[in-house]
Amino acid sequence: MAKFQVRFNSDKCKGCELCRAFCPKGIIVMSTAINSKGYSPASISDQEACVGCQSCALVCPDGAIEIYKEETSE
Ligand code: SF4
Ligand code: SF4
Repeated sequence: MAKFQVRFNSDKCKGCELCRAFCPKGIIVMSTAINSKGYSPASISDQEACVGCQSCALVCPDGAIEIYKEETSE
């Protein structure tokens, strides 16, 4: 089994919500915090539910998302 870690570079994010729109699992949410550019950055609500499809990373115009695969021994 593999698990996926989605990491957002919040300071690159401009809050366009494209990643949220394209996530098939609906697990990307917009933060209520404000980043250094004055936008509400995207974040993940349920890391465990991520299927690693990379849609969010591919669609992000600012390269603010990276997906890491973690192999588990289960
Ligand atoms: S990799 Fe796919 S499932 Fe995971 S957060 Fe991004 S769009 Fe959603
Ligand atoms: S697609 Fe990129 S810039 Fe747009 S909200 Fe998502 S992380 Fe931020």
